Amino acid sequence: MIFSKIFFVFKKLFNLFLFSFFPNRCPYCDCVISCNLCMCRMCEKFIKPINLLKKFKIYNSEEFFCLSVLKYEKNIRKAILRYKFTRRKDYFKNFAKLMAESLKKNFENLDFDFITSVPIDKYKTNQRGYNQSKELAEEMSKILNIPYKELLMKTKQTKEQHLSNAKERKENLRGVYSIIKSVILSRKSILLCDDIVTTGSTLSECVQILKEAKACRVFCVTLAATILDFHNFKK
Ligand SMILES: [Zn+2]
Repeated sequence: MIFSKIFFVFKKLFNLFLFSFFPNRCPYCDCVISCNLCMCRMCEKFIKPINLLKKFKIYNSEEFFCLSVLKYEKNIRKAILRYKFTRRKDYFKNFAKLMAESLKKNFENLDFDFITSVPIDKYKTNQRGYNQSKELAEEMSKILNIPYKELLMKTKQTKEQHLSNAKERKENLRGVYSIIKSVILSRKSILLCDDIVTTGSTLSECVQILKEAKACRVFCVTLAATILDFHNFKK
């Protein structure tokens, strides 16, 4: 009993120490916020999760769904760009918290065997220092208590997808991803995480590979969506 009390006090002091040197910041305006919040009170008024669901298809016309939490616009877009390209890795916790909350609201039962992420190639990993989608997935794994497992790898470099149209995106991605060899997915249910969905080509490619590896169900979740023709997942 006494040990657990000492541990609790020690943990609080340690968190206080961490917070004074690495304060939690609102990803959308960068102001300092308390540890338990994922955005400041001011941004909370404007940044509302949209929880939108989009149906996509893989090559054999099998369908899968993707839940996107935010609309990729204005301050959200700027925050995600800072997160991806200017080493603001610290935003991942607040983004993941929002994604996990959205999943909990929209699923009665989060009975996934694994959570995994869309991989990036080695060059980008070295350049950025991290894979932004993996950071989100690993944090969600802790919050939702679903094991994180590295299932996919990206074996070729591709040009920036936002510079291509839908048809080019699909062609650019053929044969770019593959399953990690030792992985067995028969009868496994997978939650696949990415940062942004646009045309769904990247997710389709990854879902296809997970399905070929015998995953029984793949559901996707992204922090944001760039397209507007979504249907509300839950009204
Ligand atoms: Zn803010």
